[in-house]
Amino acid sequence: MATVITDACIMSLKCTEDVCPYDAIHAGDTMAYIDPKRCEDCYDCLDACPVNAIIKEEDLPENKKKFLKINADFFA
Ligand code: SF4
Repeated sequence: MATVITDACIMSLKCTEDVCPYDAIHAGDTMAYIDPKRCEDCYDCLDACPVNAIIKEEDLPENKKKFLKINADFFA
């Protein structure tokens, strides 16, 4: 399991990149991504995101499940 950043992300990196104690969050060109190999499911980032773009994998709605692969592919 991991948390996943979705298309609601507005690159509010002050909140997200700094909040992850495992350095799992990294910025891309248009959004930030979570490395599923680094994420330890501490959930510190969930409340830090001002637009609720970060979702627990198990809570992803069907239309956001593609972001599992999109996040993982960023680190491939
Ligand atoms: S859940 Fe914790 S370990 Fe995973 S990305 Fe968020 S802050 Fe980092």
